[in-house]
Amino acid sequence: KSFKEVSKNELVKRNGHQILLTYQKVYSSVNNKLTGYIVVSNNMTYYNSLMKNLLHSMVAISIIAIVVFVVTSYILVFNVVKPIKRMSKVAQEVNADPNSGARIKELNRDDELENLATSINQMLDRMQSYIEQQKQFVGDVSHELRTPVAVIEGHLNMLERWGKDDPQILDESIKASLQEADRMKHLIQEMLDLTRAEQIDVQYPHEVTNVYDTVKRVVADLAMVHPDFEIRLDEDDLPQDTEIQIYHGHLEQLLVILIDNAIKYSTNLKQINVSAGLTKKEVNIIVQDFGEGISKEDQKKIFNRFYRVDKARTREKGGNGLGLSIAHKLVDNYHGEISVESVEGQGSQFKLTFPLISKKKAAKLKKLNENSELPKSNLE
Ligand code: ADP
Repeated sequence: KSFKEVSKNELVKRNGHQILLTYQKVYSSVNNKLTGYIVVSNNMTYYNSLMKNLLHSMVAISIIAIVVFVVTSYILVFNVVKPIKRMSKVAQEVNADPNSGARIKELNRDDELENLATSINQMLDRMQSYIEQQKQFVGDVSHELRTPVAVIEGHLNMLERWGKDDPQILDESIKASLQEADRMKHLIQEMLDLTRAEQIDVQYPHEVTNVYDTVKRVVADLAMVHPDFEIRLDEDDLPQDTEIQIYHGHLEQLLVILIDNAIKYSTNLKQINVSAGLTKKEVNIIVQDFGEGISKEDQKKIFNRFYRVDKARTREKGGNGLGLSIAHKLVDNYHGEISVESVEGQGSQFKLTFPLISKKKAAKLKKLNENSELPKSNLE
């Protein structure tokens, strides 16, 4: 007897179980005839139970995995949604009342949501401080304008009642009214300057100015207007080609504000020293007077809008208390600094500091400026 062919395997399902059947044809070794079959059946009990266990385990693991997934997703989503809900609540409250003090509470987490909450809180603080400043400004402006208007009104009333026939009253009232009108014009111009000083980045992004020429020109102009003053200029430490990133009109305005103040608040010694110099990274311009000086307390406040040390006296001198706030805004916007050193009764020294720019950057800015098509004449 012999096996000619390879045995065949077949999986059969019986009573829900898999059974492995192996068939083998048997041939006679004498005449090569098929004499029968050998069939081996294997119940595969081990295999079947293994499969069953495997199936159970898989179902159990899947259920556990689904439960774990659902629970963690819920915790994660809840953790993200909760702070977002808080933020949205605060946004709604501030939207309803822009002065509301509502802020997003500390989230106690170290992630992007915490950063977002901090940024929103900072943004709200800033926005409210702008609103407050704006309110304060409108209040200050109307207060400042009220005085000249009241003075002009008083004179006009006087003129109407008695002045028509009295040449002396007529003359005095007209002079006083013209003076107040002039003060008002000056005040309005300064308020416009202050507002414009806040928009430098947009209007004058690529301006470059030669410091040496500008300081020399402004000092010469003011010396001509005030012949009773000696305005000394020391530019020895400033190379003639020193340039900084600023619109030339603004550098002139800064110098005029400081030198004008030095003149206004000078006492007996009518001398002003202007010096300009260079350090490694900065350009310094110093305006020094020997006048009345400013107390330590007032030095902190003089850069605030409408602040005057002596309101009545300053008004006589034509000051509105806006010059130094304009200067501060301008310098700030050009990434410079303004500082004061002063001793009461001895004099003051105001210092402007600007970052120095490289020759390469100056050339680049000039090129950009030539190509930009901003109609500057409208902005001045
Ligand atoms: P104002 O137009 O009134 O001069 P500023 O803003 O330029 O306004 O100055 C604010 C105040 O600071 C002035 O009213 C004055 O009291 C004081 N001040 C400014 N510069 C000097 C100075 N060089 N010497 C003394 N006091 C000064």
